[in-house]
Amino acid sequence: MSAPTAFRYDAEVDPGEVRHIRYEISETYMGDPVEIPVTVINGEHDGPTVFCTAAIHGDELNGVKVVQEVAARYSPERLHGTLVCLHVCNPPGYLAQQRYIPIYDLDLNRSFPGKPNANAAGRMAHAIYKTFIEPCDLGVDFHTSTRNRTTMYHVRAAMERPEVVRLARAFGSNLILSGDADSGSLRGAATGDGIPTITVEMGKAHRFQPALIERAIEGVDSVLAEYGLLPTGAVNWPGWTKVIDANTDKTWLRADTGGLVEMQYDQPLVHRGETICTITDHFKKREKVVTVPFTGLLVGVLQNPVAAPGHPLCHLVSVDDATVAEIEREIETGEFSEQAWV
Ligand SMILES: [Zn+2]
Repeated sequence: MSAPTAFRYDAEVDPGEVRHIRYEISETYMGDPVEIPVTVINGEHDGPTVFCTAAIHGDELNGVKVVQEVAARYSPERLHGTLVCLHVCNPPGYLAQQRYIPIYDLDLNRSFPGKPNANAAGRMAHAIYKTFIEPCDLGVDFHTSTRNRTTMYHVRAAMERPEVVRLARAFGSNLILSGDADSGSLRGAATGDGIPTITVEMGKAHRFQPALIERAIEGVDSVLAEYGLLPTGAVNWPGWTKVIDANTDKTWLRADTGGLVEMQYDQPLVHRGETICTITDHFKKREKVVTVPFTGLLVGVLQNPVAAPGHPLCHLVSVDDATVAEIEREIETGEFSEQAWV
């Protein structure tokens, strides 16, 4: 094994050192710096460099809490490698509590890897990517569903790549949606550059959801164990796992009528023919019942109770009979709903 080396940005974080950094990625009209909070923990022992990123979408807060806890969790004495924690990647969106970069309405997660002469989002992405992502060997990017929806805890990963399969499996999520990332996303840019990266989707925007946060912290633990950063750690395998092809095995159920939506399901495993929700008019004279077209998992669900024709109601993925049996067993024993769906 080679000797541990310093992590270099504008300065150096030596082996055995923890550094809390405010790193400038842009500036405001007022000429004030726009800075991202970053923690670098450089282990005393040699090993891979791993990034964790949160709040690329400024209102997605579960990951911010995960990264805060991860950054405080490991001492350099224990760590064989380096952990790079980017607490808030989109400070303007975070301050405004909104998804995109305010005023420009630009999506930072469609702007990676960015360029020095790009628009505002592309320049911010470039500063983040060049400085903190490129030096890494792998990474985990934390998201939630967009506002007015919630999402089941799951991983998104390019499962046709063996190096990504190892990472996605090690994180220990039950459900993995397999598919290429959107162009310009951090996951897509980094994975394309040979830095295996997964996205973790967890719960709702604008909230801390402790059960999901706890599970994601365990997921990071498990990844660090798998890649040798925590040699005495254990890789955490979940009870059941299902890899779903994001292109073929899922569908969005949409409203065909306008009205008030009342969800009827009580857990995310739904069977063909069951009622998911009803949509009624304001006079309660007309009721549309929306039923499940195939047995599967509700990965995403609308939380805004009003809908117009075409509005997405829920995101359903199909699962095979064996997985259904596994999930039903977990529901019976009480393991399932706690850990996957809040
Ligand atoms: Zn997001």
